Amino acid sequence: MRVIVVGAGIVGASVAWHLAQAGAAVEVLEAGASPAAGVTARAFGWVGLGAQGPEDDPELFALRLRAIGEHARWRAALGTRYPLSGQGALVWRADPRDTQRVIDWHRKQGNRVEALDRAAVAALEPGLHRPPELAAWFPQDVASEPPALARAVLADAPGVALRCEARVVALEPGIALLADGTRVTGDAVVLANGAAVTDLLPGLDVGRSPAVLIEGRARLRGSGRILCGPDFELRSVSGARIVLAEWFPPEGEAGLPALARAAAAALSREFATEVTLAAPQVGQRPVTGDGRPMLGPVPDHPGLFLAVAHPGVILAPFLGRLAAEAVLGRTEARGRGKFHPRYRVSS
Ligand SMILES: Cc1cc2nc3c(=O)[nH]c(=O)nc-3n(C[C@H](O)[C@H](O)[C@H](O)COP(=O)(O)OP(=O)(O)OC[C@H]3O[C@@H](n4cnc5c(N)ncnc54)[C@H](O)[C@@H]3O)c2cc1C
Repeated sequence: MRVIVVGAGIVGASVAWHLAQAGAAVEVLEAGASPAAGVTARAFGWVGLGAQGPEDDPELFALRLRAIGEHARWRAALGTRYPLSGQGALVWRADPRDTQRVIDWHRKQGNRVEALDRAAVAALEPGLHRPPELAAWFPQDVASEPPALARAVLADAPGVALRCEARVVALEPGIALLADGTRVTGDAVVLANGAAVTDLLPGLDVGRSPAVLIEGRARLRGSGRILCGPDFELRSVSGARIVLAEWFPPEGEAGLPALARAAAAALSREFATEVTLAAPQVGQRPVTGDGRPMLGPVPDHPGLFLAVAHPGVILAPFLGRLAAEAVLGRTEARGRGKFHPRYRVSS
């Protein structure tokens, strides 16, 4: 079977990897000059559950839990090529009672979480100038490097043909038409082009949700952990490199310089150290109307499949596997899991 995958972000890479592992001939069409040209290049890379809390949708939490388990397959397949930049996440909220609620909730779900008092936090993160009274420690959460992960997954997929600077502008049954007029043919086409999916399937309930990634430098004396406090979401990488995730400012792009200044000030305060931040980068996350992945065949479009989801880095290995099973018609697995391909597509 010959399958065309549109988009070489983390989701497209995963779909291609799973299809290729199953023996399909796969061609990936990517509009950018190299893989991970979309929001995957702006992702923070947190693969874990520490960012979730009692306020989250239980079904989505279960989906993420399931997907995180499937990263183990990639870690086994890629070995040291799985780009891991840190282990463990330390999470706290402004009010210690809220942090306690997060800890209690995770314990109730059966997740591994430890409650650390101020002394234990200070021992773990000596750079923190004002360690919180209470923090939740998730030892199993990891920080990955999403663009490197997408590239590693693609490179590990046997026989996948990757065509960059190949923007798909229209679809016909079994055909992806490129901007330069080339017609690429296959038995099936999988749309894994993230927030740009509505360019090819207008009317789909997928929006572009901006968020901000800021890279910088600071000597934090940490060791690659994720630190998520009330004023920042941060990971330190080898050397002095740091990566920050921020909400998109309500004022829009015009608010980005002030956002970066406020982030640098918050970090200088928390770590009593000099912080230099590069220009903020905005990524458009593909967010579906109800937050659930869009996965599976598109009604009334023979041979056309969708694989669009957020948070894509966490979900990719699981959804890539499900998407590949749907394309290959291995539907005997359908119904076994709660998250088997959802046919919730409006066209
Ligand atoms: C600041 C920030 C932090 C984040 N942190 C996390 C996190 O910690 N964990 C997590 O799981 N997620 C996180 N995310 C979300 C994550 O980045 C996305 O959910 C995920 O990257 C989506 O991957 P994708 O492959 O669907 O999309 P993309 O990475 O956008 O890939 C789509 C690809 O399709 C290509 N393309 C588009 N249109 C066409 C076309 N017509 N023809 C050919 N190619 C096309 C694009 O160039 C792109 O390479 C974060 C996002 C942001 C912005």
